[in-house]
Amino acid sequence: RAKDQGRNTVQIYTPSMEIDSSNRFVLESELREACLRKEFLVMYQPVFDSGSGEITGVEALVRWRRRDGTLVAPNDFIPLAEETGLIVEIGEFVFRTACRDWKHLSRAAGRPLRLAINLSPRQFRDEHLTAMILQALRENDVDPHYLEVEVTEGALIGDWDGAAEVLSRLREPGIHIAIDDFGIGYSGFAYLRHIAVDRLKIDRSFVGDIGHDIGNPALAGALIALARGLHISVTAEGVENENQLAFLQDQGCHEVQGFYLGRPMPVDESVSFFEKERHAASPEKQTAIATL
Ligand code: C2E
Ligand code: MG
Ligand code: MG
Ligand code: MG
Repeated sequence: RAKDQGRNTVQIYTPSMEIDSSNRFVLESELREACLRKEFLVMYQPVFDSGSGEITGVEALVRWRRRDGTLVAPNDFIPLAEETGLIVEIGEFVFRTACRDWKHLSRAAGRPLRLAINLSPRQFRDEHLTAMILQALRENDVDPHYLEVEVTEGALIGDWDGAAEVLSRLREPGIHIAIDDFGIGYSGFAYLRHIAVDRLKIDRSFVGDIGHDIGNPALAGALIALARGLHISVTAEGVENENQLAFLQDQGCHEVQGFYLGRPMPVDESVSFFEKERHAASPEKQTAIATL
């Protein structure tokens, strides 16, 4: 057991630590191959209204499904996909798949769900982005109002005018914009004066500070107050326990997302999860939310 091996020999391995040049070459050609064969999987994590406990939407989260069946987490291949530009192709797969799955998920939930999809900086700057998204929506009869794209501050900084232009092109047909991992960027908040956003997603590190001796929930509370003061919807991500949920509700955080409420699941599992939430008289999580 790792514990028996002493404090200085923590056995943690992640593929991203191993990307030296030869490994990188192998990984890159495998990723290219995966793009050709569309060997990716889109998972959906439910997002909840923190007042009613109802499911308001899903966030699409991609995984690389290797030939041996193992799933590679985005943090272990998105950086390489960004560097190589393969992210544009992977992104298109995610949009097409998620738009196709949207009606099944919405039907199971009993209402049209918000569909949140992540955009990394390179995708955000791709000149065909809006056309690609609109085509994926049209082909699957999804109204653009149901789509929300999530960008990090990293995609915006550097070229604010360019970013504002991309955002207005997305907003024009009704697509919503969320700032992901809000609070951990280095840009300050001044851009919120100039850039119209619909939602702030508070980074899960702030949520992790809630209910722990070492962390201080003041930052999470302040970020929620900031969003509310600006009349921007606010979602907390990474909710892992009841104390965090109670605190977020108390602070008026509009929506919540996290393992405590629902993990990312493949589409068929999501459909059964949503049907269960809808049909159960007092679903466990709705009860958990309603009684707090
Ligand atoms: P993100 O957009 O901030 O997504 C939330 C991440 O937090 C997901 O990790 C999710 O599984 C994880 N998470 C959710 N609830 C909890 C919780 O209660 N506790 C903890 N510890 N984690 C939680 P995932 O799926 O590994 O994705 C990581 C990042 O990869 C995402 O962060 C996003 O930036 C990126 N990503 C995922 N899918 C896509 C995609 O299709 N395109 C692009 N460009 N990036 C993606
Ligand atoms: Mg996200
Ligand atoms: Mg995030
Ligand atoms: Mg993140």
